[in-house]
Amino acid sequence: MMTEQKSTNLERQHPRGTGWITCVLMFAAVCLVFLGIATTAEAARGRISRVVIDAGHGGHDAGAKRGYVLEKHLALDVSRRLERYLERRNMRCVQTRNRDTFVPLSQRSKMANRYRDGVFVSVHFNWAYNSDGSGTETFYNKNSALASAIQTRVARKAQTTNRGTKRASFYVLRHTDIPAALVECGFISNYDDRRRCLDPRYRQKIAEAIGEGILAYSRG
Ligand SMILES: [Zn+2]
Repeated sequence: MMTEQKSTNLERQHPRGTGWITCVLMFAAVCLVFLGIATTAEAARGRISRVVIDAGHGGHDAGAKRGYVLEKHLALDVSRRLERYLERRNMRCVQTRNRDTFVPLSQRSKMANRYRDGVFVSVHFNWAYNSDGSGTETFYNKNSALASAIQTRVARKAQTTNRGTKRASFYVLRHTDIPAALVECGFISNYDDRRRCLDPRYRQKIAEAIGEGILAYSRG
């Protein structure tokens, strides 16, 4: 804005022979824009160098299910959406599985522990005997900071019960040395939650909310 105004003023004062000044100013403006993009990308990355995205279950382990609705498929879909969201913001990601395959829990944690400056985020959908159970929740084992950053944003977007953050001793949380969180994106056993979970727009919203939480945590 400033640069454009400057060049207009200059042209007004010197109607002839100022073409080169305009060129120099335009070149400077282009440089500033590129510098801005690079700085923004750097800021987006923050203190995290890698996000290990863990789509829960897979292969013969379907996770929670209700009729044809399988947790493993929903989890993989949200994980892929999350990866796209983060990579567009220059955050490098790695998936513990990117197909419908069975990956043992020990392998998932081992993969995560390779990235010292990374975070591990496991994506799941919930199930309860009581079909009234609904909402989103995020688990952690050692430190709640990442889980809180994620859950705050997921709860805001999901428009279902906010079950908050909880400490749990799930294998992948216990055996992962880097900051780790496990997000439950909704209850397959609850009618309203299930309807939401089957809607790709809901899954996109949840993926973006998880992504926002990770980026906010990374910025500190
Ligand atoms: Zn699960």
